Amino acid sequence: MSEQTAGVVRLKRGREKPVLNRHPWIFSGAIQQTSGNPEPGALVDVVDAQDRWLALAYYNSRSQITARILTWDQQTSIDDDFWLGRLLQAAAARDMLGLEPQTTAFRLVNAEADGLPGLIVDKYADYLVIQCTTAGIERRKSLFLDLLQAEVQPTGIIERSDVAVREKEGLTDAVGVRRGKGPAENFTIQEHGRRFLVDLLAGHKTGFYLDQRENRRLVGQRLFVAGKQVLNLFSYTGAFAVYAAAAGARAITSVDSSAAFLVDAQRNMVENGFTDRPDDEYINGDAFEVLRRFRDTSRSFDVIIVDPPKFAHSTRDVERACRGYKDLNWLAMRLLRPGGVLATFSCSGLVSADLFQKVLFGAAVDAGRDVQILYPLSQSADHPVLLTFPESAYLKGFLCRVW
Ligand code: SAH
Repeated sequence: MSEQTAGVVRLKRGREKPVLNRHPWIFSGAIQQTSGNPEPGALVDVVDAQDRWLALAYYNSRSQITARILTWDQQTSIDDDFWLGRLLQAAAARDMLGLEPQTTAFRLVNAEADGLPGLIVDKYADYLVIQCTTAGIERRKSLFLDLLQAEVQPTGIIERSDVAVREKEGLTDAVGVRRGKGPAENFTIQEHGRRFLVDLLAGHKTGFYLDQRENRRLVGQRLFVAGKQVLNLFSYTGAFAVYAAAAGARAITSVDSSAAFLVDAQRNMVENGFTDRPDDEYINGDAFEVLRRFRDTSRSFDVIIVDPPKFAHSTRDVERACRGYKDLNWLAMRLLRPGGVLATFSCSGLVSADLFQKVLFGAAVDAGRDVQILYPLSQSADHPVLLTFPESAYLKGFLCRVW
């Protein structure tokens, strides 16, 4: 049975342009009036100032993003088949990537970019991890769990709805095993044939930085790392390091502010058969400080990976974030031997690739080094970018040679 709309959102005059351009978000400031008093997550019709129908959305008065559009087609009704259709379309797109069996962990549903605003589903071998970031998804959570269980038949479905944005929707954290059973203690996935222990219930994001998969493969080629000394900053559980070791890196220095993640990084080395690497080091500390110490003691490297956490959470943060990126990259460039390789990233959606490139330009000038971009980098293809929703392109990076 199809769901009825519970209200009508009328936009202010002239504010229909983004909707006509198929951007899925409607901000509170664009709304003239909402009738019907819809509950958080309920369906609403979106009309322009002249009451012309524009789209169907789900609503949440508590959020600045007050409505998220599900369809621009007035004939489409919202029922179980609608949601299932979106899930199947997302899954079909992943099938086309040909990831399995070498890679068993990937993003199955990428929220807005897959026509399912607020829903993330990641597949980790025979488990699924679901993350609901909006009231609209929260309201239909058990339906999604049922559909995913029936279609994918995983051993278990874990919920990792422990993200700060939920607060903006008036939701609290929700974490736990929702269907089937929880993963074994030594649960592992494969990525390009390499093995990684992943903590689905407590790791960052849904457990692993799936979005860096292709960048790890590119950076971790023999051509760049064989026989080299590698510095892996913000190592997390050592995924870049495992690739580097597999490609014959001579020594890898991993740096992370979490001691627990460094332990996991060492376990992942062992998991891949790298048990005898006496020159590797694991440094628990702040990457900025470690870089300064290395500069002061004249240490140098052939390859440096800089993959920090998100620095800019709102537009107010952008300037400060850029100073952070500049500082990090300036220091990293200084530590590289001539002809060295810098793989540097920003996962701040609010920092565009253009802006990030300008920041690197400033860092290179100040470091007095010539920097060539070999490859622009982005998130892996299981995190597709919707053309009408540029916000879905959040991860950017550059693989550079530094002289
Ligand atoms: N490159 C990793 C993902 C990095 S996530 C991968 O491919 O899996 C960012 C990491 O930075 C987290 O592990 C976090 O613990 C660490 N971190 C955050 N702030 C830090 C800081 N100031 N210094 C060092 N590590 C930091």
